[in-house]
Amino acid sequence: MQQNSEHRLLISMMIAIVAGGVSGFIWGETMLSVAWMGQLFLTALKMLIVPLVAASIITGVAGLGDVRKLGRMGGISLGYYVCTTLIAVSIGLVMANLWQPGVGVDLASGSAASKPQVGDVSMTDLILSLVYPNIVDAAANMKLLPIIVFCILLAAALSTLGERGKPVIAFFEGLNDAMMRVVEWIMLFAPVGVFALIASKLGATGGGEAFVAQLAGLAKYALAVISGLLTHGIVLCAILFLVARRSVPSYLSHLATPLMTAFSTASSSATLPLTLDGVKNAGVDERARRFVLPLGATINMDGTALYEAVAVLFIAQAYGIELGFTQQILVLLTATMAAIGAAGIPEAGLVTMVMVLEAVGLPLDGIGLILAIDWLLDRCRTTINVFGDAVGAAVVDQLTGGSRPANDMVEMH
Ligand code: ASP
Repeated sequence: MQQNSEHRLLISMMIAIVAGGVSGFIWGETMLSVAWMGQLFLTALKMLIVPLVAASIITGVAGLGDVRKLGRMGGISLGYYVCTTLIAVSIGLVMANLWQPGVGVDLASGSAASKPQVGDVSMTDLILSLVYPNIVDAAANMKLLPIIVFCILLAAALSTLGERGKPVIAFFEGLNDAMMRVVEWIMLFAPVGVFALIASKLGATGGGEAFVAQLAGLAKYALAVISGLLTHGIVLCAILFLVARRSVPSYLSHLATPLMTAFSTASSSATLPLTLDGVKNAGVDERARRFVLPLGATINMDGTALYEAVAVLFIAQAYGIELGFTQQILVLLTATMAAIGAAGIPEAGLVTMVMVLEAVGLPLDGIGLILAIDWLLDRCRTTINVFGDAVGAAVVDQLTGGSRPANDMVEMH
């Protein structure tokens, strides 16, 4: 039953993506008239983020039973995040050096006038963003990292209270289940929402001709990013098979809906409810799932890290500035930090890239060069971000000895 409805949703979303793409391509700006339907779908998903993150983290951490186990799960999760992010940036650096996408780019094409509003993000800001003076205000402004830190502390405290903590944990269990039910309802609207998101975005760029023109100017850069993301996708599949010992096709089939939602919304946070659902259907133990996924959606962004590395090297090449080995190592480290600092919302990576550009002394105006095509690359990198989180849940589950169905096991000899 579950599988049937999943397949139906998958097929209708695929049709929605194709139909949205074709209609946005042909009818261009006319498709802006359906933008509100996409907005409705996206906003409905966003509406669930704060209660779901809180309930998921609290039940996930409290479910560990013993506060000491939190250290082990937290350590393995952070180890996974850091390793995969570093691999992603390295792939990005290799791709940018191979493709040399910025060589010969016309600098006039990215006017300073189109420069986005960017703020500075430093390492200290990153550490300070872990806590927030007012948790209600943090929830109101969707500041997820301090909410996560607060919920981890709350759950750890609750699990030390014995009987007195149980009703509070039970409340969050109920809230979590209810939120997942609401997700199922919202997903009934997904095919329409996805269609509208894709069609109106293509419409906003001016339809087919304008899109092809945009792509042509930055084709090599887009190819460098996309081939890097695909390579990293393969690495993640290998990790899924070798470390998490899961069947890749079976796991991927459960993730089809979240991955397509990530592509259409360009937001890992908005996709989180579906990632939780997909990973649950894949049989990942709930403690791992509820802890790793919300944290991953906020700080683990392999796609973003990879994209930042390619983008920074592209800008350097376009300005004719040679980045030597040491500077590329600096890109490796700062792009990792910048990806951790990026929120799971559309175009967040573009903003935190300032950190990387500043570290290697490149002009911030360079961001103007890549703006035109960022809406497309954002969707591609978000899809890899979400896949990285989902693989992380399976890895943590495996390494902490979680349970899973026998038909998903991979025999290792
Ligand atoms: N849109 C991405 C995400 O939500 C972040 C980024 O801009 O790279 O995962």
